[in-house]
Amino acid sequence: MLTRVSMVVEELDEAIFDRQTRTSIINNDLQDSIRRLRVLIPGCGALGSAVASLLVRMGVRFLRIVDYDFVEPSNYPRTSSLGLLESLGNTPKVIACESMIRRLNPYVEVDSVYGWISSMNAKELIDGVDVVMDGLDNLKARSFIAREAWAAGIPYVYTGVSDRYYNVTVFKPGYTPCFDCIFSVPREEKGGIPVLAPTVYVAASTAVIALVKLLRNDWKPALLVGDVYSGSLESIPLSKEGCRCKQESVSGEYIVDDVRGRKVVYTRYSSVFSKLEHASIEGCNLAYRDAWRMILSCGRNIITVYRDGTLLCSTGKCDDALISRLIGAIE
Ligand SMILES: [Zn+2]
Repeated sequence: MLTRVSMVVEELDEAIFDRQTRTSIINNDLQDSIRRLRVLIPGCGALGSAVASLLVRMGVRFLRIVDYDFVEPSNYPRTSSLGLLESLGNTPKVIACESMIRRLNPYVEVDSVYGWISSMNAKELIDGVDVVMDGLDNLKARSFIAREAWAAGIPYVYTGVSDRYYNVTVFKPGYTPCFDCIFSVPREEKGGIPVLAPTVYVAASTAVIALVKLLRNDWKPALLVGDVYSGSLESIPLSKEGCRCKQESVSGEYIVDDVRGRKVVYTRYSSVFSKLEHASIEGCNLAYRDAWRMILSCGRNIITVYRDGTLLCSTGKCDDALISRLIGAIE
């Protein structure tokens, strides 16, 4: 039965990709490469959803998508995975993106990961994929992914959007400089940057073309800088020479980081809810829980605990003693 279904799907593919494989860019062999491609998309907001939508429609059959965040009404103008009513619901972005992919093509394999991205899990997320297509909106998460992709020897197609402007570049060991050569991660990044909806779609399309060029061995190392309003696209050549960056992996059971002025603790522990529910943590009470998050009230500190074991100090400073008590309860 399964064989018959897959035969039907293959015949259907010929019809679906008829116009695509008649272009000057994608022949049948390249279509086959696209079909076999396993893609990681970290970040399922506007950019990640637009990239996922294009890749599925072009024939990609495996996507791993990752996000910890929830949809908000302000996501609606830019995000192809969201109808207006969906943008009002308190749904994880990764679930909204997965629903979109399943609606677009039920034969696509989707590996949805609800959680934060850090050096704790970046290696695991990269495992088994051929390429990373950026859907992130901050340089810290990008640097975690970029380092592991570099270490694994797979290309990372970086895309940044802001207002009417966008950047696209590729990091590929042996061909381009690494992420750390191009970007220095600021101590603090601002959230909620302004973005014009068409910028997302032009940027996503440019990123997917970069991927097609990689598949054709036709990518010339460059940083593309575009402006959708003026229509300009500048290509700044990059050289792989001179990369002296150390690519160190982080060891240890947890790391404390700063994300947009708030303390975040990434841990190696997942499924921490039941442990926390039954633990008595000095000075802390369980204030809320749903399937995805639980909120602990610890004096002046409000701490959101995510299902993947990430702790976010929503308010307060969360001193080292409190963090040690929480880690003690979940390890
Ligand atoms: Zn470098």
